[in-house]
Amino acid sequence: MKTNVPDIDAPCGDYFTFHDFVACSDTYKRLMASGGIDNVPREPETYQSMQRMARDILDPVRRHFDSEIILTYGFSGPSLVKALRQTPYPNITQDRDQHAGSELSRNGNLRCKRRGIAVDFYVAGISSWDVACWVIENTPFDRLYFYSAHRPFHVSVGPEENREIVVMRGYRGGPHTPARTSKSRFLAEPPA
Ligand SMILES: [Zn+2]
Repeated sequence: MKTNVPDIDAPCGDYFTFHDFVACSDTYKRLMASGGIDNVPREPETYQSMQRMARDILDPVRRHFDSEIILTYGFSGPSLVKALRQTPYPNITQDRDQHAGSELSRNGNLRCKRRGIAVDFYVAGISSWDVACWVIENTPFDRLYFYSAHRPFHVSVGPEENREIVVMRGYRGGPHTPARTSKSRFLAEPPA
């Protein structure tokens, strides 16, 4: 393992630690309760992306809405991906969804060529549509995947800074159909 990475328990921004990004998913918590799981990033760039996520998106959101941020999914190493694949309707595409950060596969290739990092989160007591609109208008996000006002949404930072907005149609726990939308259309009204 490389040693030139921060301690996993070190602060990442004003409100989080790196550990929060690796330990927030239900699947991680379940595995920790039954024998453990290694979900520690190896690549310095993955840590830098987590710092950027905190600095450019999560910390400003926390300050603006003045309410707790609940992360529901963050960094996903190979062991967590494997476990998630065994859940019903695993909503993961590890080569595209940016939850793998800048980690490398066994043969040395980027597991997700988009790099950066993604998190799924909601703000306690605030509509996710309100939060997503604020993120779209005020932060340098890369990609944002929105489900509904009452569910966490997915947002990434990354070198491409695509500002891509995708509405995911479907039911919680079921399959989803992605539909790209424009900033103006998204901000006009909550997606039906
Ligand atoms: Zn996600």
